[in-house]
Amino acid sequence: MTFATLGLIEPLQRALETLGYQTPTPVQAQAIPAVLAGRDLMAAAQTGTGKTAAFAVPLLQLLTMEGPKVAANSARALILCPTRELAEQVHASVAEYAQHLPLTTYAVYGGVSINPQMMKLRKGVDVLVATPGRLIDLFRQNALKLNQLQTLVLDEADRMLDLGFSEELANIYRMLPKKRQTLLFSATFSDEIRTLAGQMLNDPMSIEVSPRNVAANTVKQWVVPVDKKRKPELFVHLMRKGRWKQVLVFAKTRNGVDALVDKLQGLGINADGIHGDKPQATRQRALDRFKSSDVQILVATDVAARGLDIEDLPLVVNFDLPIVAEDYIHRIGRTGRAGNTGEAISLVCADEVNMLSAIEMLTRQTLTRHMEQDFEPEHRVPDTDASGQVVKKPKKPKKPKASGGGGKRNLGKWVDSGEVAPAEPSIKPVRKVPVFNTGPRKKK
Ligand code: AMP
Repeated sequence: MTFATLGLIEPLQRALETLGYQTPTPVQAQAIPAVLAGRDLMAAAQTGTGKTAAFAVPLLQLLTMEGPKVAANSARALILCPTRELAEQVHASVAEYAQHLPLTTYAVYGGVSINPQMMKLRKGVDVLVATPGRLIDLFRQNALKLNQLQTLVLDEADRMLDLGFSEELANIYRMLPKKRQTLLFSATFSDEIRTLAGQMLNDPMSIEVSPRNVAANTVKQWVVPVDKKRKPELFVHLMRKGRWKQVLVFAKTRNGVDALVDKLQGLGINADGIHGDKPQATRQRALDRFKSSDVQILVATDVAARGLDIEDLPLVVNFDLPIVAEDYIHRIGRTGRAGNTGEAISLVCADEVNMLSAIEMLTRQTLTRHMEQDFEPEHRVPDTDASGQVVKKPKKPKKPKASGGGGKRNLGKWVDSGEVAPAEPSIKPVRKVPVFNTGPRKKK
């Protein structure tokens, strides 16, 4: 199959050829004809499957072939993305696909001044890529009208809900013309996403290109148990031992990102960080420098790193496990792309055992553990497996303190000098661990 057989016009074929796209990916092969035929779409496809071209290319063709010229302060197609970085990335791809077409494209997002965006919208743009909050601001300030909109794309819809954008999406829904084509792309399909699809889509065609919630099998994954306080030290040790060259590291919080970057920079390691508190320009610069290998270690929060396309990334390190198990799949999806092999290493402390268990349950696999010499944790990480069970081993009974010692006294179970309270049962009952936090998260 070729892009020509899918019915694409010559200027688009030429643009794709320049980009080195020879054959359509599975999601493109299914989505392109359906979008050209005017269908609504509900597509389960992760980043790395070629989903951006799957919606953008046919959308550009429809805009070129039909419809009036764009009016002032209007957009003919709107692509909604969860984060600024993704909006930039999607816009860069759209602009490349549209390079031989007489269409205008633009991206708007928060964290930067709104005025230049308002100026740019005056003449109208054919394809507008936007994050939800900024889109609403522009609409409320009358910088943007949506009555000419013919196509709406919801990219990474699950992530938009995770980030707490459901209210914004409901507001945007009320701003849209009734007659339009809607394309919804999501890595996963929760009940919430299905409800959203039920409201926004009209008789959609369903496309699923990768099995649900299964992590890429080209990624070698393993876990190193370690005490929380020793994680930075272990990271540096593994980095030196493995001679890591380019690593994307995920930390749970903004402070966590800053602390690790400071530590690494203090050791003379070429590291930078991205998270939601940093200005957009700084985030983009760090990302560009990482992509061009000017920065060796990029430490990021999930929000900042979602959906980023970084070619041939060999290694992802989870400095902390993600709070939402599905984020694990997105994180490790940054490596092992387009048939390459990759590696994903997670540094896991005892506090994170429930998160580990939820990840193993979701990915239906027990992650291999590797104990690093001299970093064996004092606080043992209980055993877990893909059934979602956490097996707690018995605590060792403490030795009695010599009587008359100056240490802490009568803590817990010691009854009298030399006498031990009854031992705990040898194995604690096995506990079923729920997949936590499946509901929407508060906006960060
Ligand atoms: P996406 O899933 O849209 O983020 O795309 C992932 C990567 O695959 C991007 O670097 C695209 O440029 C690339 N890509 C998309 N479609 C094709 C194709 N048909 N052939 C080769 N590369 C592609």
